[in-house]
Amino acid sequence: MIGTILPTRTTKPPSPAPPAKPLRDYLSYSAITTYQNCPLRYYFRYVAGLPEKMVSSSLVFGSAVHRAVEHHFNELMAGNEAPTLDAMIGEYDRHWSEADPQTVQFGKDDDVESLGTLATKMFTAFQTSPLAKPVGRIIGVEEELRGSVVAGCPDLLGRIDLIEETTDELVVTDLKTSRSRWSRDQADDSAGQLLLYHELVRNFAPRKRVRLQFAVLTKTKEPAVDLHEVLVDARRIERTKRIVERVWQAIDKQAFYPSPSPMQCPGCSFREQCRAWTG
Ligand code: SF4
Repeated sequence: MIGTILPTRTTKPPSPAPPAKPLRDYLSYSAITTYQNCPLRYYFRYVAGLPEKMVSSSLVFGSAVHRAVEHHFNELMAGNEAPTLDAMIGEYDRHWSEADPQTVQFGKDDDVESLGTLATKMFTAFQTSPLAKPVGRIIGVEEELRGSVVAGCPDLLGRIDLIEETTDELVVTDLKTSRSRWSRDQADDSAGQLLLYHELVRNFAPRKRVRLQFAVLTKTKEPAVDLHEVLVDARRIERTKRIVERVWQAIDKQAFYPSPSPMQCPGCSFREQCRAWTG
């Protein structure tokens, strides 16, 4: 994150007034959910542009797994053989080597070695799963799409993990890593992301149906790879757009305030600034 110098305890906390020029002229699903979870955290990250002074090991791990899986699909898209397990691990390791070790915060049961062992098991499960052998033609991997999805809001920017094309469908897949297998409710609760991606993708091939799915790789002892389809439903798409609209209206009005929670605060980089914040 591009940002200003991190204030010290004696520095006046940043005022929640946006800079003359916003850091971004678009919204992402991640920014929307950051605001929903804690508006002040959104402010520190996306408006004040403060650097993250720590990052959880699970975030680095998830990104490293994504990178290895991305490598797999890129090779297939290029018409090459699927990469070996060693090649996937190599991509995973490369991502870790690029992370700043001073900023990575490990959980009490995690270290680089244990996470590497877990990643190897996850890649083994992935390589033998149907996800690794798409039936359609791969037309996009980590594809960045941007467009106007909700009137009156900035463009939406989406990074789509995988887009496949079959004779009658475009299949949009978002990859997740998870501590446990997802329930149907978890897939439904996360559906907004894919429904917004549907709006970005649908004009690619107007005559084709767009199918949406989450691919969930579990970080369990015996990793699983599950696919959860999200039904394209016009009413749910409209509902999701209204949520984005309301979130944006609140951001635009600078409605920034702390929303403490035991889920969010322990991993938040801005605890110090949050405590110093007086509105
Ligand atoms: S410490 Fe908690 S309440 Fe404060 S900004 Fe971070 S997530 Fe929000």
